[in-house]
Amino acid sequence: MSDHTAGPREVRAPRGSTLTTRGWQQEGALRMLLNNLDPEVAEHPDKLVVYGGTGKAARDWRSFEAITRTLTTLKQDETLLVQSGRPVGVMQTHEWAPRVLIANSNLVPDWANWEEFRRLESAGLTMYGQMTAGSWIYIGTQGILQGTYETFAAVAAKRFGGSLEGTITLTAGLGGMGGAQPLAVTMNGGVVICIDCDPSRIDRRIEHGYCDTRVETLDAALRLAVEARDARRPLSIGLLGNAAELVPQLLAMDAPIDIVTDQTSAHDPLAYLPVGVAFEDMAEYARTKPAEFTDRARESMARHVEAMVGFQDRGAEVFDYGNSIRGEAQLAGYTRAFDFPGFVPAYIRPLFCEGKGPFRWAALSGDARDIAKTDKAVLDLFPENESLARWIKLAQEKVHFQGLPARICWLGYGERDRAGERFNDMVASGELAAPIVIGRDHLDCGSVASPYRETEGMLDGSDAIADWPLLNAMVNVASGASWVSIHHGGGVGIGRSIHAGQVTVADGTPLAGEKIRRVLTNDPGMGVIRHVDAGYDLAGEVADERGVRVPMREG
Ligand code: NAD
Repeated sequence: MSDHTAGPREVRAPRGSTLTTRGWQQEGALRMLLNNLDPEVAEHPDKLVVYGGTGKAARDWRSFEAITRTLTTLKQDETLLVQSGRPVGVMQTHEWAPRVLIANSNLVPDWANWEEFRRLESAGLTMYGQMTAGSWIYIGTQGILQGTYETFAAVAAKRFGGSLEGTITLTAGLGGMGGAQPLAVTMNGGVVICIDCDPSRIDRRIEHGYCDTRVETLDAALRLAVEARDARRPLSIGLLGNAAELVPQLLAMDAPIDIVTDQTSAHDPLAYLPVGVAFEDMAEYARTKPAEFTDRARESMARHVEAMVGFQDRGAEVFDYGNSIRGEAQLAGYTRAFDFPGFVPAYIRPLFCEGKGPFRWAALSGDARDIAKTDKAVLDLFPENESLARWIKLAQEKVHFQGLPARICWLGYGERDRAGERFNDMVASGELAAPIVIGRDHLDCGSVASPYRETEGMLDGSDAIADWPLLNAMVNVASGASWVSIHHGGGVGIGRSIHAGQVTVADGTPLAGEKIRRVLTNDPGMGVIRHVDAGYDLAGEVADERGVRVPMREG
């Protein structure tokens, strides 16, 4: 029966060890979908928007109700098919098959632009799935915190002697992802000014302990920043305003900024506030005059990026943080937009060569003690990994859980499977109160083709080759993941990326153990082989040392 009356309602994942579905694989999918839309987790749950501009978990409320209803009755040998947030079929498969297969926002390449996407979206035919929004493994701002922390640690190592103490970072965007920036900088000892035009986003970060204070004027922000820098005291300052105005003003004032980046939702020009538009009028203006709004947003981004280049010319460390702002500024005619690099070629690619990426897990019990126990298990498994130990300690101190308790840490090839199997054993022995869901961001070593971000500047020029994420999704299906997704346009926007996700439920059964071993070996293995194929020596060494088979290196 279809539910014609479905509308916004507040949702929250069930907790505890009692099933509300026919098995833990289905239960994992259901609880994580609900968790994505928990008001503590999602940025705009009433609109089904989880994070990243308009990244949604389900197409509309009717689809949401139909997905949850279907997951509740889905059998162990059935697979639910989800097309851009709408459940479209249930097929008989088998026990090793994923319980859910998801395809989000995919368009035929010649049609893959925002204009066509918006037309289809407003006709109710598609939705924007972002990365972990439409694949039901978003865990709140913590998910990105660790990656952001590692990036700023890499900046510190490259330019500032290993710490950000005594430096000032300037950035913008305090949304679902960007909200990790203030805490990531202060965890590295630095001072940061984070501009956002939405006061509620600044307040939310302060409430969650990610940002220290809010100010409304440039002068106040600079004064606080310089004082803290001089005292070598970490401090994060949320500054209310438009980055396209304030960043150029700071440049004109010759502000003593050491590091500049940005995480406004620039990938979607309808989510970037143009200069001269009041924040209160933004949504209505974008809805009623999308073409005019887009032009004005792009012009503003050009001013913003021009100022970033200006800071680089003065010696600051400047990088694009994966939001496509350089591409948008270039579309507005600014020719030096790509003068500064993306963060992946600048800091992350060596990690990808080792199959390292954002391994994450959530406790379906809802019990924070399960995360404390798994944290300890990870530390016991990898005692030699100092940065991992530092991260877990800081995370335990500083991260406030949003929704189901969860943890993230970057693990590589040969590590993720060991952690996953250990968690499964802990569920089996009753040490944990309920099963654990193990997944990752699509921003990973072998799961994404995104020439402005994860695959920017590949050694062999293969930036735009999108066979890799498709192979990644297929190998995860073949290996026994609980749900697998293929998306288009996440992170950097429509037309600019293809990526895949997998999530696997550790329910304590021997079968789950077998699946986890395969999925968590093969999934990061895709990162190793992708970088071997592109000619990275480090990836070749990792493949040889850890036994990743690459036919072109054999015989
Ligand atoms: P979001 O939509 O939740 O937040 C964007 C924020 O930018 C909002 O708070 C909004 O008020 C603010 N904003 C918009 N225009 C502004 C302007 N002109 N001046 C000041 N503030 C402005 O998005 P998010 O989830 O935080 O993601 C931000 C961007 O970062 C996206 O483009 C996303 O794709 C990208 N991203 C990067 C990474 C990475 O690892 N580098 C990961 C995920 C997402």
